[in-house]
Amino acid sequence: MDLTCKDCRFFLPVDVFKGICKISKEKITPDDRFCDKAEKVPKCKFCGKYLAEQDYLGKCIGNTMAFPDMIAAKCADFEWYTQN
Ligand code: SF4
Repeated sequence: MDLTCKDCRFFLPVDVFKGICKISKEKITPDDRFCDKAEKVPKCKFCGKYLAEQDYLGKCIGNTMAFPDMIAAKCADFEWYTQN
């Protein structure tokens, strides 16, 4: 999975096409590559309970429809996906 600025907790969106990095204060786009200061924001696609079914659609705990880029910071069931 290629991580980009839109997956980083320091990305501040301005609109759909651009944003600002909260660390460097520079203008960036959501699709710029993760840098060495990046930290992942909790999203469904990073959760061990999310199962992808298509590119932009999946299921949470096997029954609820979920989107991979949905923010899951307030989800009580969120758990970071860990690879073995
Ligand atoms: S810290 Fe790096 S990855 Fe995160 S928003 Fe800034 S430039 Fe992007």
